[in-house]
This record gives sequence, structure tokens and C-alpha cells, in this order.
Amino acid sequence: MTDTHTTDDFTTNVYYGDDADASYIQDKTVAVLGYGSQGHAHARNLHESGVDVVVGLREDSTSWPQAEEDGLRVTTPDVATAEADIVMFLVPDTIQPAVFEAVEDGLEAGNTVMFAHGFNVHYNQIQAPEDVDVTMAAPKGPGHIVRRDYVNGGGTPTLIAVYQDATGEAKEEALAYAQAIGGTRAGVVETTFKEEVETDLFGEQAVLCGGVTALVQHGFETLVDAGYSPEMAYFECLNELKLIVDLMYEDGIGGMWYSVSDTAEYGGLTRGHRIVDEGVRENMEEVLEEVQNGEFAREWINENQAGRPSYTQLKRQDEAHEIEAVGEPLRDLFEWEESTENDPAEVPADD
Ligand code: NAD
Ligand code: MG
Repeated sequence: MTDTHTTDDFTTNVYYGDDADASYIQDKTVAVLGYGSQGHAHARNLHESGVDVVVGLREDSTSWPQAEEDGLRVTTPDVATAEADIVMFLVPDTIQPAVFEAVEDGLEAGNTVMFAHGFNVHYNQIQAPEDVDVTMAAPKGPGHIVRRDYVNGGGTPTLIAVYQDATGEAKEEALAYAQAIGGTRAGVVETTFKEEVETDLFGEQAVLCGGVTALVQHGFETLVDAGYSPEMAYFECLNELKLIVDLMYEDGIGGMWYSVSDTAEYGGLTRGHRIVDEGVRENMEEVLEEVQNGEFAREWINENQAGRPSYTQLKRQDEAHEIEAVGEPLRDLFEWEESTENDPAEVPADD
């Protein structure tokens, strides 16, 4: 963790503190639209970095008084946009096209439209005028971490990308923005809107949110159906996942193998690819193709326009899974985890 790396260690451009030039943002006004997870973190970090910030919220937004309490200027999204040089869209992705339409008239030539996720730009749900820059600054973490890291004097690794460069300064400005929210203290990685969107969607569908929950549920069901207690199945298939993921997060897959027992390592090495086999790999390629050809995006946009019927039904089904009811009282036994969450050294070793 304390190793110092240079750009040469990576296959892509990575920028640190000195690579950014604050003058590209210092005299500009940034409108941060939305004050949720990302919005509050960007707005407060920018403000404390000396950037002029105006938060854009609906008049009935419950976040309005909070943003003011945090020392920020608040107005409606259209007024904020008209006033700003840079407009960062941090309202939910499904709402962004409507908000964009409502504020579009406030954009002037040379302004910048920014995003923390490229979905709407990449899939043409938002088309900015040709004379504005379109860029991205996407922290690789939820807003409360982006805020916490900044307050602690650090930063959260951040992606930047340029989709449209009308001014010729789009990248320098995006880098200066990333610096002002703390990103260059950790490392800023350059990507493209296409790469960010496609890898993000694939990752959350195939591995993170979709893949891992299905794996956990299948493991739980297999043990319970074989007559083992649901509590034991919960511990083995869900609770202990965190310990394994923490090890991989800290030291890679090799570091995880090193830390578990030889029995666990041999069993995992011989059985893992029987469970997640070539068929799973082929399914992953199919899922990736649906992301790349826009089929998933179309489906999700239509689903939203129809009022989310499948989404609601699938959510309900998932919430009714036995593993949810079993887990609730068990999680209360692990309250100690919360207080040690940010200090892995204090988490008792698995035995
Ligand atoms: P969020 O749901 O936490 O916050 C959304 C905010 O928008 C809220 O303050 C809400 O009140 C406000 N809002 C809702 N409708 C509005 C409207 N019509 N007009 C004005 N404001 C409105 O959203 P988030 O998770 O911070 O996501 C914002 C963006 O950041 C998205 O593009 C998301 O993909 C991206 N992102 C999120 C994370 C994350 O971990 N949360 C990480 C990286 C990128
Ligand atoms: Mg403007």
C-alpha cells in the first residue's frame, strides 16, 4: 500500500497531484445538480478546495436545507446551470435526461457538461450541443467514502474521460475537477465513456451484483436442501464472503490463497472451475454482448418508461428468498463488525 507507483507501472494514463493544473477550474463556477450520495461529496469537496459551487435542486427537495447547512449556495437546476461554467449531473441516471432537457437552455458555448457515469451519453439519451465540452469525473467509490477520504486528507481513485472537446481544454479541466474532489491524491485513471459504461454494466451484472448474489443463493439453497441448518448455510455462503473478499481486495487472489488453509486452497483450486465453468463464461460473453450492442440499455430504458413492472416483481421475489429472513437476526450477532469495519487489522482472523 505504501509503494509509490509511476504512470509507467500501468497500461493506461494515471495522474497524481502535480499532473493537474487547478487554474482550469479555480475561476469557474460549478453547478452540482443533485445532493445525494455523489452530489454532497463533490459539492463539499469542490467548495473546500476553493471552487465556486452552486447546488441545483428541486424546490421541494429535502436535501435543500441540508446543502445550505453545509455552507453551500442552493438554487434550482435551471438557474444553477445558467450561472455555471461547468454543470455536473449527479441526479439518478434514469432522471438525468429529463433534468438535462430542463436546464439545456442555460448552457453557453465553452461550458462543460459533466457526469460521474457515462450511461446517458454513451447510449444517446443525452446529446449536448456541439459547442460544449462533455467530460466525466467518476470516483470509484460511493459518495460518503469520497467525502471521508477528502476530509481525512486523502482521496478516492477517480476516472476521467472526455467525450466531446469543444474548447480544446476538456481533459485539463476534467483533471482539475478530479483534483478538486480529492481524486489526484489517490490516482486519476483516464478512460473513455464507452469503456467506463460497458465495463461498469458488465461488472455489476456478471460479477458483482448479479453474479455474486446468484452464487451465494445457489450455495445456500444447496446446503439447505441437503438438510443442513439455514443458519450454517448463511454463515458459510454469505457471511464469510466478506472475509475472503477483504483478503482479495488487500492482497489479490494470491494473497487470499496464502491466507486460507491448504485444505481450502486445494478444494478451491480443484472445485472452483467446476462450479463456475465454461458455460458460465459463455453466459458472461452473452451478457457483455447485450451491453455492447445496446440491448440491455434499451431494455432498461423501456422498463423505466413502463413504470418498472419486471424490476418491481424481481425485487419482491429476491426479498422473499429464505436467506433474507435467516440473515436478519444473525447479522445482529455481528454488531462488532460495524465498529471495526474500517480497520481490517481488528477483525478477528477466520478459523
Ligand atoms: P443519489 O440517488 O444518491 O442522489 C440523487 C440526488 O438527485 C438526490 O439528491 C435527489 O434528491 C436528487 N434528485 C432526484 N431527482 C431530481 C430532480 N428531478 N431534479 C433535481 N434533483 C433531483 O444518486 P448517486 O448515487 O449520487 O448518483 C449520481 C450519479 O453518480 C449517477 O450518474 C451515478 O451513476 C453516479 N455514481 C454513483 C456512485 C455511487 O456509488 N453512488 C458512484 C460513482 C458514480
Ligand atoms: Mg452556463
